[in-house]
Amino acid sequence: MYIFKRIKELQFYLKSCQGSIGFVPTMGALHEGHISLIQKSSSENDITVCSIFVNPTQFNDKKDFEKYPITIDEDIKLLIAAQTDVLFLPEVDEMYPKGIGHIEMYAIGYLDTILDGAFRPGHFNGVCNIVHRLLDAVQPLNLYMGEKDFQQCLVVAQLIEQIGSKVNLITCPTLREQDGLAMSSRNRRLSAAGRQQATAIYTVLKTLREQQFMQSFATLQQQGLQYLQEKGFEPEYILLANASNLQLLDNFQTDCSMVVLVAAKLEGVRLIDNMRI
Ligand code: AMP
Repeated sequence: MYIFKRIKELQFYLKSCQGSIGFVPTMGALHEGHISLIQKSSSENDITVCSIFVNPTQFNDKKDFEKYPITIDEDIKLLIAAQTDVLFLPEVDEMYPKGIGHIEMYAIGYLDTILDGAFRPGHFNGVCNIVHRLLDAVQPLNLYMGEKDFQQCLVVAQLIEQIGSKVNLITCPTLREQDGLAMSSRNRRLSAAGRQQATAIYTVLKTLREQQFMQSFATLQQQGLQYLQEKGFEPEYILLANASNLQLLDNFQTDCSMVVLVAAKLEGVRLIDNMRI
């Protein structure tokens, strides 16, 4: 596996390669969820590029940024084992040569007003900045992202359209631990007890899926919020939306595909998850 820290060197190498490029952007602290994206890319492309960059402009909470887990040596081992071709590992200066105070403003619109857009002001604008810059650097044919970050996938799909990029966005299913907890780099920050409690998010999602049409969404939402609180969470939201555009729904519908989305903090760690229902 080649490792590049500079855009110019990365591009010089990629120009010498033949065939299609698949790209998996990450913030590191890799787990099997990330590796599943690498594997999907490898199966569909000649070259797979993974990037690891903890993007400062998408953290609205400074402490969250400072505490973000960094495990680069282990990440490199995992990427080599997964037969990744290229790791792009830039420093902040490389991605933000004018400094992180000088970023573009994107017209995110509705998606920035709901769910994580509402709870994390500026987050998706930071995501758009880094994804745009990384796409320019890597120029992939295919871009692989996880449905674990459901809203992010929609924001990036919109970004791709807005910037007139030809990249294909391929969204991949969420990988879960045996007890159902969605794999996440942030899970590493939980204590052993917190890790056990964290599965409550999955329990809430599963209950909502199983009980839909038996009770109203409002009732299930209330029960879910209470359950999370009992398990030691500070819930931010449990919401139901149309899966194709994230328009929020008051109750279950029969004429559109739906998704339930949850965000809650446990031991100061913000966890998100979702389930199509
Ligand atoms: P992150 O490093 O958290 O920014 O994630 C990098 C990519 O991996 C994003 O496209 C995520 O949606 C995806 N991802 C994160 N967790 C999972 C998971 N449990 N299953 C599948 N994909 C994931």
